[in-house]
Amino acid sequence: MVRGKRFEKTVSPRLTVGNGWPVSPRHVICSRRNMLAPRTLSAMTPDKQHEHSKPHHDRPHRHHYDAEMLSVEEARERILSYFSRLDPVEVDLIDALDMVLAEDLVAPFDVPPLPNSAMDGYAVLSSDLVGASASSAVELPVAFTVAAGALPEGPLVAGSVVRIMTGAPLPQGADAVVPFEDTDELERRAKGDVDAQDSIGIKLTAKPGDNIRAAGEDIAKGEMVLKAGTRLRPGAIGVAASLGRGTVRAYRRPVVAIISTGDELMTPGEPHQPGKIYNSNAYSIAAEVKRYGGIPKISGIAKDTIESLQERLAGALATADMIVTSAGVSKGDYDVVKDVLAKNGAIALWSVRMRPAKPLAFGTLNGPGGRKVPHLGLPGNPVSAMVAFEQFGRAAIHVMMGRGELPKPTVQAILDDPVNNFDGRRVYARVIVYQAPDGVLRARSTGTQSSGALTSMAFANGLAICPDDVSKMEAGETVTVEMLDWPEDVFPHR
Ligand code: AMP
Ligand code: MG
Repeated sequence: MVRGKRFEKTVSPRLTVGNGWPVSPRHVICSRRNMLAPRTLSAMTPDKQHEHSKPHHDRPHRHHYDAEMLSVEEARERILSYFSRLDPVEVDLIDALDMVLAEDLVAPFDVPPLPNSAMDGYAVLSSDLVGASASSAVELPVAFTVAAGALPEGPLVAGSVVRIMTGAPLPQGADAVVPFEDTDELERRAKGDVDAQDSIGIKLTAKPGDNIRAAGEDIAKGEMVLKAGTRLRPGAIGVAASLGRGTVRAYRRPVVAIISTGDELMTPGEPHQPGKIYNSNAYSIAAEVKRYGGIPKISGIAKDTIESLQERLAGALATADMIVTSAGVSKGDYDVVKDVLAKNGAIALWSVRMRPAKPLAFGTLNGPGGRKVPHLGLPGNPVSAMVAFEQFGRAAIHVMMGRGELPKPTVQAILDDPVNNFDGRRVYARVIVYQAPDGVLRARSTGTQSSGALTSMAFANGLAICPDDVSKMEAGETVTVEMLDWPEDVFPHR
């Protein structure tokens, strides 16, 4: 078995807390469960990046680290308060897969519509077969044949049988069907008298109801079959079809505009230029939007200027239900996303106690006609962007599609590799969950856990969670893993 590399211990040269106060790693690496212990004031020295409220203190002081950074749950709750279910629309049935039904589906008729045969065989009156057995078949005349889709020529007359195919309506007067296997049909065929066959030997007795599907056995006329709010999985799509529905009303899929920011970005398909990188975020995020049922609209690349981003946004704001940008949310010189949010909308939060993806912007942008369009500003690092989208963008799509907030399905697995937590954030470690020969689920690292290494997401099927107050999880410990590729409603909640 191929084992992944150990989780990398990548202590950054200068760690910061709160609004950018640097502290030495020695103060943030702590033993299990004391992550939130007070830090010494002397550990914190102001630096140029410090963007604190004014007037400012002239001596180093402690920042309210916990108040400034939101937990994943707090951030998600705040973000979701900006979203609600979108309008219902009439959609072609097949396009409604995984959408949420916005109407009750009540059966206008019985399904199946008539009593019919569950087997290819002979419709009989069971009382005609008393004493039938393999050694003494009861021979009866065959009145006629009824095929699926046809109606019987007439009722079954006692003392005769009707040849009947699966799904064909039962003639009146018949109360059971005997399958071909329990007749001498095969022997007669072998003798070549199939066409001339006007009687049949039946080798088994029957009880009333044998091999008959009653009218309305699956769905009775007037029954509420699928309630509004049901997620249309393939079986439900089939049921809607069996009720004759070519279209259904379902909550609209959100249009999610995706704008990448960064002077370094090129579009995949373009020839490679020195010093540039391909815009992978737009594609990984668009794929996630699609996976969760939304309609992604890759809306190009903005340069690292306020004007360029505003220009890109103008087009997206007209049609999108949500705007997702990547990069430009940290503290670098060219990080303009939050400036645009502040200028053309309102910032709701930024900074979440998670790794990867601490810097995060969320707010609303002013769209045409006073419309406030929610904007999720993802970090630029490709893994951070995906993990942040998984935690926040995914939930927003579910809410807009009428599914409510669906928690990610999790499994418990045994770690093959340790997970380090340097600075009291919740760690989402990329892992491959696999079933060991003893049947136990185990989780091994996908290798480097750098937030720039997108292969760590590509190879992973889950995100192993190291809680924020645990500084290290050892190999052999049980860990909770959010499964990336499982649908959220894989198990009902009760
Ligand atoms: P930033 O948030 O702008 O500081 O970007 C953080 C890192 O993510 C940098 O290494 C960027 O080059 C990289 N990055 C930003 N946007 C993208 C993108 N769309 N696709 C791939 N990498 C990106
Ligand atoms: Mg940048």
